[in-house]
Amino acid sequence: PELTWVDINSLIKETLFFISQHPEARNIHRVKELARDLPPALVDAKQIQQVLFNIIINAIQAMEDGGTLTVQTSVVTGRGGNQLIHIEIRDTGPGIPPDMLDRIFVPFLTTKNQGTGLGLPICKQLVEQHGGTIRVESEVGRGATFIIELPVQFRPE
Ligand code: ADP
Ligand code: MG
Repeated sequence: PELTWVDINSLIKETLFFISQHPEARNIHRVKELARDLPPALVDAKQIQQVLFNIIINAIQAMEDGGTLTVQTSVVTGRGGNQLIHIEIRDTGPGIPPDMLDRIFVPFLTTKNQGTGLGLPICKQLVEQHGGTIRVESEVGRGATFIIELPVQFRPE
């Protein structure tokens, strides 16, 4: 990995702009709720962008008849009092059935004709390599929310 100090909000804006040109994103309303005081993250920008991209593409593919994609960032405090960059990617698609939720990060689980079922396992691997976590919450009929948390590293002056 090639670690540099990255503004996650900028990475999200770039990714959303890139996705807005995707034909499948036509009927998708995009909402950004980005924290103003987000500290920079020491990450491999390409890898984290790939994570954002995979999750956002999944969300858009889930909202075939249109919907709202919300990307939110904030700073939260972890169990050990450490700071975490919290990223939520929410869609208003059909959601994920409960029996699929615990297997969603396992390789080769796909419901798509042309799917690989590798997008989310790769996301999990990349986030965990950064010392972060990824999880999903969903209610069928109401959409899905993917939550990524990345550690805030100490930044020398
Ligand atoms: P793929 O996109 O190739 O199917 P992924 O690992 O990216 O593989 O996703 C696995 C499966 O998880 C998808 O096929 C889909 O059934 C489900 N999924 C992922 N994201 C969402 C979402 N936002 N809403 C509903 N289902 C989802
Ligand atoms: Mg995918």
